[in-house]
Amino acid sequence: MSKRILAYRRLDEQQLEQLRSRYHVDYFGKLSSADDPAFREALAEAHGLIGAGVNITPVLLDAAPKLEAIASISVGVDNYPVDELTRRGILLCNTPDVLTETTADTGFSLIMASARRVVELADFVKRGDWKASIGPEQFGSDVHGKTLGMVGFGRIGQAIARRGALGFGMQVLYSNASPKPEIERELGARRCEFDELLRESDFVCAIVPLTDETRRLIGAREFERMKESAIFINLSRGQVVDEPAMIDALKRGQIRAAGLDVFEKEPLPADSPLPQMANVVALPHIGSATHETRTAMAQRAVDNILLALDGKAPISPVNPEVRNETAT
Ligand code: NAP
Repeated sequence: MSKRILAYRRLDEQQLEQLRSRYHVDYFGKLSSADDPAFREALAEAHGLIGAGVNITPVLLDAAPKLEAIASISVGVDNYPVDELTRRGILLCNTPDVLTETTADTGFSLIMASARRVVELADFVKRGDWKASIGPEQFGSDVHGKTLGMVGFGRIGQAIARRGALGFGMQVLYSNASPKPEIERELGARRCEFDELLRESDFVCAIVPLTDETRRLIGAREFERMKESAIFINLSRGQVVDEPAMIDALKRGQIRAAGLDVFEKEPLPADSPLPQMANVVALPHIGSATHETRTAMAQRAVDNILLALDGKAPISPVNPEVRNETAT
């Protein structure tokens, strides 16, 4: 019996063909809801899943009794109950590395846009309000030579810091679960206590995975410790920040501005004040969203699912112990 793959994110024709040449594929290029009856029907028969953006709950897993492997088209795996997958012997794979530089580009564009007020002032020109030379009330702040505080210093955090240190002469501070001596030497970066980072940084940039430990890692207490001139960048997940506390800090001028790619609820609810706030640059979760990188991520997921369903080691497994245990 041929195995079946359920794909629920857009793949290009070549990638679909690659999957179809080996397995039966149920394809939902644009899935509106995991409650879609056709999706549920395909889930019941699926040996492999490939996709992103759907919260894979234990209830969904109960509806997928044949499932062997999932290839997420993302590096973040907060949409998956990893321990539960491991317990059930289901292999989970993600797409690290291929999106690192692109996501770091997005992070740096948020730093630049927030500091130099690019969006706000481009809108000012678009509205036809540019009638005279601008004055100090519209000046921004420098990026070069400032202190960049990285909350999370993994692949993407280091790539952002490299841009800051080598391209903009920034001093880099970081707080991270473990020390990173090699990149410290390369960039002259320094690991410090979280509170020192908050106190000393001109830019505080969050790029940690969302876990029980990092949920609401940055809230009222943390905004209070930042400089009044600080700019906060969130590129990780919306839930890493206490969003009402951040809005409050921005409104009260406790920090100067924020550059945000991710939010507590996505897409942003219509009643969110964030898009209307002049000191906020809000992007629609575009960290890795370039043609090149989204294609590379989808390709990594295709390769992962094919290897996994063949019983081989995938390129980037999240819970490889599933296979080790099965092998013994
Ligand atoms: P990574 O290489 O695993 O880096 C994550 C870093 O966070 C690691 O260095 C880890 O420390 C550190 N960390 C984990 N828990 C921590 C804690 N409680 N306190 C301090 N540091 C902690 O992952 P990555 O590839 O850089 O991606 C990071 C995250 O970015 C993803 O999980 C995803 O949520 C997000 N992301 C967002 C977008 C977007 O579109 N906006 C795109 C890609 C990724 P250790 O090194 O000691 O383990």
